Amino acid sequence: MALIVKKFGGSSVATPEKIFHIVDRVLKHKKKDDQIVIVVSAMGDTTDDLVALAKKVTSHPYGREMDRLLSTGEQVSIALMAMAFTEKGHPAVSMTGPQAGVESSDAFGKGRILDVKPERIFKALEEGNIVIVAGFQGITDTGDVTTLGRGGSDTTAVALAGAMKADVCEIFTDVDGVYSTDPRVTDRAQKLKEITYGEMLEMARLGAGVMQPRAVEMGSRYGVPIHVRSTFTENPGTIIREDYTMESNQHTITGVADDTNVAKVALVGVENKPGVAHTIFQALADATVDVDMIVQSIRTTDDERTDIVFTISRDDVVLAKETLDKLRQTVDMECVVINEDMAKVSIVGAGMLGQPGVAAQMFGILSEEGINLEIISTSEISISCLIAENRVKDAVKAIHDKLCLDGRN
Ligand code: ADP
Ligand code: ASP
Ligand code: MG
Repeated sequence: MALIVKKFGGSSVATPEKIFHIVDRVLKHKKKDDQIVIVVSAMGDTTDDLVALAKKVTSHPYGREMDRLLSTGEQVSIALMAMAFTEKGHPAVSMTGPQAGVESSDAFGKGRILDVKPERIFKALEEGNIVIVAGFQGITDTGDVTTLGRGGSDTTAVALAGAMKADVCEIFTDVDGVYSTDPRVTDRAQKLKEITYGEMLEMARLGAGVMQPRAVEMGSRYGVPIHVRSTFTENPGTIIREDYTMESNQHTITGVADDTNVAKVALVGVENKPGVAHTIFQALADATVDVDMIVQSIRTTDDERTDIVFTISRDDVVLAKETLDKLRQTVDMECVVINEDMAKVSIVGAGMLGQPGVAAQMFGILSEEGINLEIISTSEISISCLIAENRVKDAVKAIHDKLCLDGRN
């Protein structure tokens, strides 16, 4: 007997036909005693459509009511999938995130899973049901629904798998695994047989949308192996695990990621005195704006003032503007410039550690392409460059084909 958590993303459940395809596939592979929990996303582009709908009604699409709205998408798919299983003769029961015992923090739109109490799921499984759980949502200790950030159904699935001590968590999607870069950008992208939690976390954090970063963190914390694979083919996918089982699967550069959900914020001519940076970034943090790359420049002619440039997600631009407008009543600065035409391109690989020259090679390739670097940042296992959005696909292709494929078959 195995306990398996399977997650199906939005494109996998986009139509009734696709839902029936999943039902047939699950029933074909299910052994008699297997216990199956299925986590689903909203159908197709439902979440995007709900965001667009909200923007027609409000200039502040954040907060409690926004989460109430967004959480409805997943509730449609769980009900339809449970009906489809019943139609095919297998008992199934659907549960919202709260019914499934997913407890989350009160940061609307960016809730974190704090605990999972899966008793109700276990009971339904014992009664012979396949249990279908709405991804992307949890409940706060005051009874409000919060959503878990875009792509959050991945995190629901891995958290359930961890809390229930499942044998495996399978993430079914529209590609057949994790590739060396987004296969939609270059057909030379290569499927990875396996990848470590650490590298996958970095790829996901830097924009590889195939997994939500928090899901990978959760997998690492609970030691749940995650199998990313296709809904539409039976091919084996990619296993995300603690370490490589075969040395030949490890490369100097594991992958190239890009992120176009980036905005650059420049605070020009900010008063240069102790405590100002703290005031600015604390205000942004209080407004739940995640800040990524940060540069503070040194002015040679005017040391009374400084320029602070940083990047945020485009989803947070309205919140950041509201916060900075308020802040300008207390912090003196000449102007704020927000640019939404930027993107980030990154290389990731634990194999880069102790290999000098990789950064120079990356910058050389970008320079051959005539691409200007606005900000550079690094971690132990990644190097990222902020560039113009309209050149990001050229950058990914060039870096991937010249640097990442180097030395691979
Ligand atoms: P789902 O709706 O199933 O959650 P997503 O759209 O969130 O699917 O994630 C799958 C998409 O991730 C793929 O269609 C692919 O374009 C994109 N992607 C980005 N980077 C990668 C990568 N390195 N490997 C595989 N897919 C990637
Ligand atoms: N439906 C949500 C989204 O589109 C969550 C998910 O798909 O994982 O982001
Ligand atoms: Mg996704």
